[in-house]
Amino acid sequence: MTPDEFRTHGYQLIDWITDYLEHVETQRVSADVQPGDVRALLPEHPPRETEPFDAVLADLDRIVVPGLTHWQHPSFFAYYPANASGPAILGDLLSSGLGVQGMLWATSPACTELETVVVDWFAELLGLPAHFRTDGAGGGVIQDSASSASLLAILAALHRSSDGAITERGLTGRHILYVSTETHSSLAKGARIAGIGAENVRAVGVDPKTLAMDPAELDSAIAEDVAAGAVPVLVCATVGTTSTAAVDPVRAIGEVCRRHGVWLHVDAAYAGVAAVCPELRWLNDGVAEYADSYATNPHKWLLTNFDCTVMWVADRNPLVGALAVHPEYLRNAATSSGSVVDYRDWQVSLGRRFRALKLWAVLRWYGAVGLRSHIHAGLAQAAELASWVAADPDFELHEPRTLGLVCFRPRWPSLPPAEADAATLRLMESLNASGDLYLTHTKVGGRVVLRMALGGTRTEARHVRAAWDTIRSGMTSAL
Ligand code: PLP
Repeated sequence: MTPDEFRTHGYQLIDWITDYLEHVETQRVSADVQPGDVRALLPEHPPRETEPFDAVLADLDRIVVPGLTHWQHPSFFAYYPANASGPAILGDLLSSGLGVQGMLWATSPACTELETVVVDWFAELLGLPAHFRTDGAGGGVIQDSASSASLLAILAALHRSSDGAITERGLTGRHILYVSTETHSSLAKGARIAGIGAENVRAVGVDPKTLAMDPAELDSAIAEDVAAGAVPVLVCATVGTTSTAAVDPVRAIGEVCRRHGVWLHVDAAYAGVAAVCPELRWLNDGVAEYADSYATNPHKWLLTNFDCTVMWVADRNPLVGALAVHPEYLRNAATSSGSVVDYRDWQVSLGRRFRALKLWAVLRWYGAVGLRSHIHAGLAQAAELASWVAADPDFELHEPRTLGLVCFRPRWPSLPPAEADAATLRLMESLNASGDLYLTHTKVGGRVVLRMALGGTRTEARHVRAAWDTIRSGMTSAL
């Protein structure tokens, strides 16, 4: 592709994306396709000769778009939001345009130093402690996902708990991870990848009302495992669980961790970014005193395209100790001097994209004021929706309710619990099949509840009202 051709198609593509986002609301939210439908429209073999870029764009409209779930649709309320925004898209494009690898400081100094500044800025915006900053003992790094951050926390904790021995010789004996029954499945996955084994992940019980981890039960579980000769490695506290956005008591959990010398990882994938609002900093109570590592996802609720998880550690030595390897072909004077950060030692892969560009673009475009108003909009929409649910005799609101997530279920007064749950799932499926909105479900106390996550970049109050009207009328016709 010549520079002129790139310019032509580049403008064309920006126009395409602009039109897509401007009119995404006119699409069905979820795709109306069956497994294999998209594949059947694609050629079986790759092209032998060159094809015009226009043909790619034409297939995008004809084949790809109809097979998409439109996460940027204002009526997408499933899972948690995956925000995208203009500055983030442009920052990501810049990363592709520059095409640099930031594995070492030496392989692109600005890639490393900009990331360091951006994660330090971000720590300041969230009110996180000074020792998370890179000019302190710890430091921040952008990962692809919260799942990777959890795995890295496990590897660093294993390194620390064995004084480095595990990193050299591998695991011997039983090592235990502590999660709650509400913790995200990425911890169980991380335990398998790290060789700890799924059986050695202990799910501590939660308060039946708040669904927050019970620190007393955690304390007894650790004491029991130590008495049995096992090594407690890491506790994961969650700030904003995946099912209901429950918030674990980080301070009380941290005190238990400190007593037993166990690593505390705080998974704040969804909710952590809300701390850009000073009045929500209670979410992170105890993080400054007790967290060894902390992760949050601007790619969920903070206007930054996937992938962008910011992870901080209170002390970078166990992380770097667990991961640093120094092959001859990567030796260079800057690394040997010890005066630079090489982010390859802070992540699983060697190569890394210039992800800091998109977060930098977002922080500069919106500023703290704009980011706060985005969070406030999601909170206000959630509060309004929750008030309608609470006032409706046909529905039951799950409480306590946290941040931008609203969980509720239809009452189905004449049905026993199992049939009521089946009816709730049927209602959700028919609502989603309409293409007008998209919801997901979870289970609370063994019962099916619907989840509606607010905070989409394009979601306005009118979309939330329309969704609630659709849910209500779906319920009325099902009754
Ligand atoms: N942790 C929590 C609490 C989550 O809610 C999620 C996803 O929703 C994850 C981890 C996984 O996030 P990622 O896709 O960034 O790995």
